[in-house]
Amino acid sequence: MSDSESLTAEMALPPYRAKVRGFYHSRWYNGYVYFGATNALALSAITGAALLRDDVQPIEWMFLAAAFLVANLAEWLAHRGPMHRRTWWIAALFDRHTLVHHVYFPHDDMAARDHREWLYVLFPAFAIGLVFATALPLALLAAFLFGRNAGCLFFIVAIGYYLLYEWFHLVYHWPESSRIGRFRIVRALRRHHLVHHHHQLMQRYNFNITFPIWDYLLGSAYRERTLP
Ligand SMILES: [Zn+2]
Ligand SMILES: [Zn+2]
Repeated sequence: MSDSESLTAEMALPPYRAKVRGFYHSRWYNGYVYFGATNALALSAITGAALLRDDVQPIEWMFLAAAFLVANLAEWLAHRGPMHRRTWWIAALFDRHTLVHHVYFPHDDMAARDHREWLYVLFPAFAIGLVFATALPLALLAAFLFGRNAGCLFFIVAIGYYLLYEWFHLVYHWPESSRIGRFRIVRALRRHHLVHHHHQLMQRYNFNITFPIWDYLLGSAYRERTLP
């Protein structure tokens, strides 16, 4: 895109997007490259953990399901906690999510116009580092307590879950008319996330991004009647 074309595109932005871009923008950002690199990193880590495991026994596969539920709860807790409530120890998560992502994508303007706007959707590098820095010691603890396979499976689920989160969330912020966005399951999950993007509701409802298991278990799933 030439400078004049990019200037025209900037001028066409709604004011809330222009405001965010005013203080948070990178002209070198390429969403395909960034997301491709994070996928490669996560898949390499998953492959490494898969190679480290021994023969997995049937009982150990149950550990996979348990780890998935833990990951779903971690998503709920992180989203309801530091991503929406400013904490002194990790204020950047709040800034990046509540002040950038939610402002850039209000409920009635959810779609990214192109891959450059994935900058306001995908985890920033520091958050990816945080995912690894959290998953690794917990996987080592699981290995210490339950054996090497448990540690490997936990790590695979944790990193796989992060990737799932990124894919799901990105799809919600693609145009609804995209091929993948038209699947019924995707439409239902996007609806769940769209409700969360209402500024009046974002502090209280629909904190799960992937599957809303803990939203239903903990009573934070929004029962749609008349949306504000
Ligand atoms: Zn979102
Ligand atoms: Zn949120």
